[in-house]
Amino acid sequence: MTPMQADGLLQDTLHRPLRDLRISVTDRCNFRCSYCMPKEVFDKNHPYLPHADLLDFEEITRLARLFIGHGVHKLRLTGGEPLLRKNIERLIAQLAALRTPHGQPLDITLTTNGSLLARKARQLREAGLRRVTVSLDGLDDTVFRSMNDVDFPVAEVLAGIEAARAVGLGPIKVNMVVKRGTNEHEILPMARHFRGTGIVLRFIEYMDVGVTNGWRMDEVLPSRDVIRMIRQELPLVPLEATNPGETAQRWGYAGTDGQYDPRLGEVGVISSVTQAFCHDCNRARLSTEGKLYLCLFASQGHDLRALLRGGASDAELTSAIGHIWSRRDDRYSELRSTAGATTRPRVEMSYIGG
Ligand code: SAM
Ligand code: SF4
Ligand code: SF4
Repeated sequence: MTPMQADGLLQDTLHRPLRDLRISVTDRCNFRCSYCMPKEVFDKNHPYLPHADLLDFEEITRLARLFIGHGVHKLRLTGGEPLLRKNIERLIAQLAALRTPHGQPLDITLTTNGSLLARKARQLREAGLRRVTVSLDGLDDTVFRSMNDVDFPVAEVLAGIEAARAVGLGPIKVNMVVKRGTNEHEILPMARHFRGTGIVLRFIEYMDVGVTNGWRMDEVLPSRDVIRMIRQELPLVPLEATNPGETAQRWGYAGTDGQYDPRLGEVGVISSVTQAFCHDCNRARLSTEGKLYLCLFASQGHDLRALLRGGASDAELTSAIGHIWSRRDDRYSELRSTAGATTRPRVEMSYIGG
């Protein structure tokens, strides 16, 4: 195969660049959200990855540096629960030292369930993390405890969000997965709670990632219904997307004059099911054991760890990443309704990260 160099111009078969690398740092989690790691499947007999299979921090940092050569400028740490990875702040410090070819620091963020955030926010900030996204599916303690399925209290996640804000990890985003029949009555309380706080609340349609969650279309509450519900009480106006490839559609809270009032802030909806956004998807995912996935719904990854541990040079790894991306044609969400799409095997979200 002809060697491919990193010139920052890499595109896949649908002319999509590579801009965003999501790195899963663990396949373990202390929650058992039924839409992601249902208890019946992820029990004590579940075969989690042994430590030696995980990419170590040097391997992750080396790969991140090579992806940056291909145009990546955003890194998101995820999992499983990324704050369970021992010494995660050391990895963050290593990643924070990387620069784009133009000498710019990377946009580094992390998605967390917030359970350990109150304890770790300061360390994370000091290590160089810029901001965090916290997943929170409701404010009602009973609903929240039942959705995380380990009886974890909502107050501790709220304390985690507060700690993140206090140390300057911002702008903070809060992601709420909406499951019809489970937590749609939490939409308005969540909107009221975060309006005017500077925290951006985003509603995510429940997706058919993985095969263990028993996903059903009738449990998806379309984003347009979420917006309709909020608008009945809190006026909203549509806002422009800030970046190409942005997953969320943005809506701003309007003031008494009917115009967007930045002091009231905004909400977002991520409509992966009802309004696919594959056409400008610029995200790659690196699994905990170093497999590169080109789509959240992919059934197979490309084994970069084998190359890393087999002694590949930077040039060889760069070329391999370039060839893999240039052949990418994934667009699962756009094809979801076509024959056979939803019956193919799919990787689990807790393994590949959000
Ligand atoms: N444990 C961390 C957390 O919950 O934030 C990071 C990993 S989690 C897999 C990343 C994101 O994926 C979370 O916001 C979670 O709510 C979302 N997620 C997981 N399963 C999902 C599903 N079936 N549909 C939509 N979002 C899902
Ligand atoms: Fe854990 Fe996050 Fe999955 Fe919930 S969504 S089970 S917190 S990895
Ligand atoms: Fe990207 Fe795949 Fe999601 Fe489409 S379905 S937006 S290609 S991750």
